This record gives sequence, C-alpha cells and structure tokens, in this order.
Amino acid sequence: MSPLKIRKNIVKNVKRIVIKIGSGVLTNGKDKIDEAVIKKIVLQTSLLVKKGCEVLIVSSGSIAAGKTELGIKKALTDIPSKQAAAAVGQSHLIGYYEKYFKKEKQKTAQVLLTHDDLSNRCRHLNARNALMTLLSFHVIPVINENDMVAVHEIKFGDNDTLSALVAHLVDADLLVILSHVDGLLTGDPAKDKKATLIPFAEKITPDLQKIAGKSSSPGSVGGMSTKVKAAKIAADSGISTIIVNGTINDIITKVFKGENIGTLFLPSQDKLARRKHWIAHTLKIKGKLILDNGAKKAIMKMGKSLLPSGIAAVTGNFDSGDAVDCVDSKENEFCRGLVNYNSRDLKKIIGKHTSKIEEILGFKFYDEVIHRDNLVIL
Ligand code: GLU
Repeated sequence: MSPLKIRKNIVKNVKRIVIKIGSGVLTNGKDKIDEAVIKKIVLQTSLLVKKGCEVLIVSSGSIAAGKTELGIKKALTDIPSKQAAAAVGQSHLIGYYEKYFKKEKQKTAQVLLTHDDLSNRCRHLNARNALMTLLSFHVIPVINENDMVAVHEIKFGDNDTLSALVAHLVDADLLVILSHVDGLLTGDPAKDKKATLIPFAEKITPDLQKIAGKSSSPGSVGGMSTKVKAAKIAADSGISTIIVNGTINDIITKVFKGENIGTLFLPSQDKLARRKHWIAHTLKIKGKLILDNGAKKAIMKMGKSLLPSGIAAVTGNFDSGDAVDCVDSKENEFCRGLVNYNSRDLKKIIGKHTSKIEEILGFKFYDEVIHRDNLVIL
C-alpha cells in the first residue's frame, strides 16, 4: 500500500485522538497567546467531535499567557518564575478554550498532570478512568502539565512527551502534534537550504532520531527531538503520530482529509495486542478472584466488565491498580485484569449489587471491579 493510502486509512478509521498544541503555534510568533488561533483549533476540533470522534487536547501556553498577564516581556529562566507565570496563565488559557468550545456547544474540562501521576500505577489508573469518564460524558479534556507543583523529579519537561503518554494512557488511535515547523525535515533548515520534509516514517530508527536532534526550533520547548521521541513512545504503544505545521490554515481538517501534509509515523505494533500483552504477561499477579458462572459468561460471551455481584471469593493482598487472575468455580483461570478496588475493600463488596458499594464502603469510585478496557481474556 502506498504511504498516502496508509495515511488515508489511518485518518478515516480513527476514533480517539490526542491533539497537542505547542506554545509556538498558540502565540503565532508573537509574545502572547493569539486567541484567533485557539478559535480556529476549537472550530476544527468541534467538527471532529460532531463526526463522532473523541478528542483530547494537550495544550501548552500557560506560561505565555501568564507572562502577558503579569506584564513580563523577557524570557523566564528560573523555575519559580515559570511556575508563577503558569499558575497565573493556566486559568486564562483554559478560559479561551472554554469560551470558544462553549460557542460550539462542547463541554471542556481542565486536566493538570505530572509525571508522577502517570508513572504510579494506582494514579495512572485513576487518571485513565477519570479521562475515560470525561470522554463518556462527551467532554473535551484540555490537558497541561501541572507546572505549579511539578518540581524537576516529577516533571514531564515538555508537553510533547506528555501528549504521547496521554495517548498511551487513553489508548488513542492517533496523536497529532501541531508544531510551528512543517514536520520532520532531513536537516536543519536554518543551516541546510536543501533540507526537505520526510512525509512518512514507517519506523523510528536511531538515525531518524539523530536527524530530529539536529533541527533547531526556536520558540518551542522541546524542539523536533522531543516530538520524534513522543512519536516513538506513541509508536511503541501502537499509536500513529502526525507532526504538522499548526500555523497552516485549516490544518486539523486537512490532516483528517488525509492530505499528504507533515510527517506520519507508523506504530511499531498493534495497540490492543500490546496492552493485552502488558496486562497478561508483564504485570505481577497480586491476587485471585473466583467468579460465578454468570460473571464468567458476561465476560466471555458478552464482552462485559466485572462487577462485584459476580465475585464469589477473593484471595491475596492487593491494591487498586494491581493485576489479578480471575478463575471460575473449578479454579480454571480464564481472564486477568487490573482491579479498581484493593483486596480489603473488595472483600466487603463481593456478591453485592453496585448500588450497595457506597453504603458498605462509605465511598464509591467505580461500579466495575475490573473495567472491560483493563481485562484480558486468556
Ligand atoms: N506547560 C508549559 C506551558 O503551558 C509548556 C510546556 C511545553 O510547551 O512543552 O506553558
């Protein structure tokens, strides 16, 4: 299949998309956020949503917006000043998105994450479940790094990486990175006049990463190097990435028409296969749930999640987010998944209807003990 055909197939079949917008695009070369850019992005995103896609936005720009608000012209270098600017600017940034999405009758949510939130298994699962729930409510999450609290050790450092991890977190089909350059070029256009665009990358090789490392990208936090690294994270999670010039008119619409624009990076392996492999084979199993026949049938035949009512017994000590085996009454193991409740709480609610969870535990995070998305049939 030709690269263009592959591209058209990808954009035609995507359902869940992460769109990352860099500060360079949002400021449009000036030193403040250009509201007109946000308006255009919102209009194009809303069209995608109206067509039935789920969209998550990862947006930079809080520091830029904060600097404007504080009347700071010079570049900020020390971390506390950047954090202060981000804290001032984030509410303005989200305000712009809300203003324009509201006109399109779309709901938005502000989501601020740190690296810690995604590397800790339990918080990773909570973040995933919360984002999935937002999508199920038809809300468009507008995500940024929680710059105010992100000290060095828990920082993503750049929103390119954050966008790839979010794409992985929610099992997106496609990551679109809006940059202020055309995509990955064969060299640094500032130094090499003959540098041309690489439209298609089947594999992200070390050579390709080296090429990206060479291109400078003033005004952007990460440059092309972090964008290609993000594409690699996405590829390894089974997700395609398109890096395009976000300053081009109607760029999002053009991408989803399958126009040969920017650089498309293909995934290195099938997404579902990878996630299932991770749950089934990589994670340490911390406990066992014995399910009744009704629950077994619902999972095996009807593709349902596991609810507390279908669990007859629990063994082992585990936390929420851990992997457990599910066996039938004859102790045959038939599926494996990530639990939403720890073993102590779970023992109190097994056999009970979901409507009783809150009464028994005093709180309820989820109806499901194991959500379908986190369940693998063996
Ligand atoms: N979180 C930063 C901001 O909102 C930007 C980080 C980045 O663009 O990579 O200003």
